[in-house]
Amino acid sequence: MHTTKQLKAKPTSELDALARESGRLYSKVLSYARKIQRKKGIWLSENAMQKCMRLRGYKLHSQTVQAVVSSYYDSLKSYFRAVKSNPDAKPPKRTPRHFKVRWKSRAIRHRDGIVYLSNGKGREPITLKSDALPVYVELYFQRGCYYFSLVYKVQTPPKLSTGKAVAVDMGEIHPIVSHDGDQTIIYNGREVRAIKQYLNKFKAYIQSKMDRCVQRSNRWYRIKRIKTKILAKLNAQLRDAEHKITSRFISDCIKAKADTIVIGKLKGIRKRAKFSKKSNQKVHQWAFARLQSMICYKAELAGLTVKFVSEAYTSQTCPQCGNRKKPANRNYHCNHCGFAYHRDGVGAINLWNKVSGFILSPVVGVMASPIGVRFHPHLCKSG
Ligand SMILES: [Zn+2]
Repeated sequence: MHTTKQLKAKPTSELDALARESGRLYSKVLSYARKIQRKKGIWLSENAMQKCMRLRGYKLHSQTVQAVVSSYYDSLKSYFRAVKSNPDAKPPKRTPRHFKVRWKSRAIRHRDGIVYLSNGKGREPITLKSDALPVYVELYFQRGCYYFSLVYKVQTPPKLSTGKAVAVDMGEIHPIVSHDGDQTIIYNGREVRAIKQYLNKFKAYIQSKMDRCVQRSNRWYRIKRIKTKILAKLNAQLRDAEHKITSRFISDCIKAKADTIVIGKLKGIRKRAKFSKKSNQKVHQWAFARLQSMICYKAELAGLTVKFVSEAYTSQTCPQCGNRKKPANRNYHCNHCGFAYHRDGVGAINLWNKVSGFILSPVVGVMASPIGVRFHPHLCKSG
């Protein structure tokens, strides 16, 4: 399994030169491939192009040259795929001034907590602080800063086997509601929701401002820059909150000595969602796949198994008597036996019953009321 770490770096003439050289190489590869295609009617193979470009003496590591050529051929391959169904598709044509720089494992050395990224013989390597040896490093530019993304290979721990499962009901209001047989925990998503609401409001506001300008005027560009900047910030806040919630959830699973996480299958919910304009927006912006993938890889690193099961009727069935009823508000109330509980909690309990082999839960009568976990900036740190 691989994990990634990002390091921010201020622009220096050294990094600029590297990105510029990479851009020069990419543009050359592109123009060369197109020229041959124009004159001879064939696309030069990736291998031949790599050989040819290595001989041209770019100021980069030979593996980096290969990687840049590969990235052109990746986009060329997607053009070949696209042209099968769409005859109007065009091959890649953008010739960037700057391009990302990649270092493969043979260009990376690690000694005494420092990573050396080679730029070929006779040139100074780039040094970064890192405790372990990365297998792959990429340098890219984003909003006025350079970022190094270091990919590490991680040994996953052996799978735990304690025989205890935690069921998860994912919802739009509460991103995670978990149940482990005797305890229901609600991870509050108010913070995430607030950011999302503000994001939508801000988008509408700034778009209306942009619509009032002449397109591509100075003012239009200025507003566009503000828009990109603030949207990036809000999206970073969203991702941060999601990371903290999932990390906290995994640490709670380990604390409860569980070995399996059971998640309800939610695929296709967007297609099924046909509600009001407002609810539709909520469902469509609900990033359940991103949360699920976060849970999956964090669980793998902790030695937990993740299972996906169908969550049909889990939010409608009464866990005490099996009566089916659609909950009307945030609380589930059964009119058959009088069982009342938090709506999302019922989903988690039913899911847990499903995998644990109970049809109706035996302990539901004395069920403790759910615990709420509120979002705060240091959420994942408390165990
Ligand atoms: Zn009931």
